[in-house]
Amino acid sequence: MGDQEICSMRRRRSRLTPEAYAAGILGGDLVMLSRAITLVESSLPSDRAIAGTLISQLMPHTGNSFRLGITGVPGVGKSTFIDSFGSHLTQKGLKVAVLAIDPTSQVSRGSILGDKTRMKHLSMNPQAFIRPSPAGDSLGGVTRKTREALLLCEAAGFDYVIVETVGVGQSETAVHGMIDFFLLLALPNAGDELQGIKKGIMEMADGMLINKSDGEMIPAARKAKVQFGQALRLFPLPESGWRPQVQLVSAINRDGLSETQEMIEQYREICKENGYWDQRRKSQSIQWMEDSIEDLLLRSFYGNSDIQSKMEAMKKAVLAQSQSPIQAAEKLVDDWLNLRKD
Ligand code: GDP
Repeated sequence: MGDQEICSMRRRRSRLTPEAYAAGILGGDLVMLSRAITLVESSLPSDRAIAGTLISQLMPHTGNSFRLGITGVPGVGKSTFIDSFGSHLTQKGLKVAVLAIDPTSQVSRGSILGDKTRMKHLSMNPQAFIRPSPAGDSLGGVTRKTREALLLCEAAGFDYVIVETVGVGQSETAVHGMIDFFLLLALPNAGDELQGIKKGIMEMADGMLINKSDGEMIPAARKAKVQFGQALRLFPLPESGWRPQVQLVSAINRDGLSETQEMIEQYREICKENGYWDQRRKSQSIQWMEDSIEDLLLRSFYGNSDIQSKMEAMKKAVLAQSQSPIQAAEKLVDDWLNLRKD
């Protein structure tokens, strides 16, 4: 028996029933929550089956947390801010979970140790739970896993689930599809073409924080606040009816944290009242279903051993120019559909 088989056998043996995971999670058992997240991160069909049942069982206990997305370029201070803001929230008696989306993360970068050192205070706080991004995965894979992990955290009773994106592109759109409020962190030097922040990302933001508004940077930060405020006002009023605000914070000095909390709580109040809160979550559920269909189809296609061997032949044919890429693709998909019929 090979190492891999032994490993996979051990993993199967350590799996519990969906009911056992559910009971632990609903009781707020964080070790059980961690084990359940490991389960939903697995792509093994046997694990997917347990995970599917578990998620269905927990669905009625989800939906009660504030799902907060946080993004910003590397170095803007996301980890420092989450560490400070998370600690601020726990001081108010709230429970905080932090998940990360980073499709570029490799095994070592996504390690628990890495995230624990990034958020020193929060990682030692019993009211908080930090889970790094699943390592070495595609964006689609990380998105599915993060969505499921988010629901597990909610069922475990966390008041805030913070989803951090470490990228500066596509992963923001993925996060936007699963959170209630999108917070964009920026630096005090707004002049530099608004710091290369993509227009699409600014347009998704429900609020912006100018971090590092401390010491000598305060005047620049004030100026940046005005400039970003003007830039945001150029966008049409979002469907939520909420005009995104810009605030100054210093994650290191823990300044501006109460104001940040007030801003996002005010958003929740307004959007709950005007119905946008529910509407956004409903459309996210539909999006989740559509993403899942895509995910299942892709896995079924690429996981099929007949297709895998035909794929190699097709690649050769494309390179030899005896098949056009589109013809080759159509042929493979047709073959797969026929295989499904048999
Ligand atoms: P991330 O890459 O976005 O997670 O950024 P980090 O949280 O790792 O912060 C990057 C650097 O900026 C670190 O050296 C932090 O100490 C520093 N930093 C973070 N927040 C602040 C702040 O509010 N003020 C100042 N002056 N420095 C900060």
